[in-house]
Amino acid sequence: MAERAKEGIVAPTGLIAHGRGEAFDYLLGERTTENARRAEMTAVAFLLGGNRPVISVNGNTAALCAKEVVTLAQATRSRIEVNLFHRTEERVEAVCSFMEKAGAEEVLGRKADSLLPGISSDRAKCTKEGIYSADVVLVPLEDGDRAEALVKSGKKVIAIDLNPLSRTANAAHVTIVDEVTRAIPAMIEMVPELRRNGDRRLALINSFDNKRNLEEAMGIMCANLSSSRP
Ligand code: ATP
Repeated sequence: MAERAKEGIVAPTGLIAHGRGEAFDYLLGERTTENARRAEMTAVAFLLGGNRPVISVNGNTAALCAKEVVTLAQATRSRIEVNLFHRTEERVEAVCSFMEKAGAEEVLGRKADSLLPGISSDRAKCTKEGIYSADVVLVPLEDGDRAEALVKSGKKVIAIDLNPLSRTANAAHVTIVDEVTRAIPAMIEMVPELRRNGDRRLALINSFDNKRNLEEAMGIMCANLSSSRP
């Protein structure tokens, strides 16, 4: 992450956000829980069932798992769009080319031609072809304003966020409380089975309750805290 920050892929505040994530991962036990697995399967079901699924990529996501994002996008026929909190033309170009070097054939985001309603910052900038007209959006490591705006604009929002208390985690329809470099490879493995099984996809989507999912994640963290004595 420090190397990617020097290259301008990761913003300085991105490093701080990464540290927040690491702290929560500690509490989680640095592993993918059963609870997270269920959220990951439901997320894959949403992506496979979407008409216009999009994976939104920021600097941290690109730095941590560009190749895996490309593989997941190909497997679920999702578009990739770069969207940055600290947006400059140089950074957008740097992150887009980083994704292309990782194998992405088409990366949206260089030419933002639309605005997502409900946010005043540069994060509102998006493409008509991608996030603006998406029905399902995967937002790894998102901030609360944008997650809420995506939900308000009628999209199904899947977040990957180690902090079950964040606004993003609470706004999303499906929150994967897992480290992004564990979550995305796990999701890639789930695609073949779920692609074949429409009934299973529907059952996952219909039975998922994000409030309960977040309560379970917090319960796991609290249990780890109270059981780990030096
Ligand atoms: P919000 O605005 O949603 O209330 P926030 O201000 O913390 O939360 P960001 O600064 O965009 O929002 O932080 C992104 C989130 O991503 C944080 O909640 C952090 O815990 C989480 N996070 C950081 N690194 C990782 C990672 N590697 N894997 C999963 N989650 C991560």
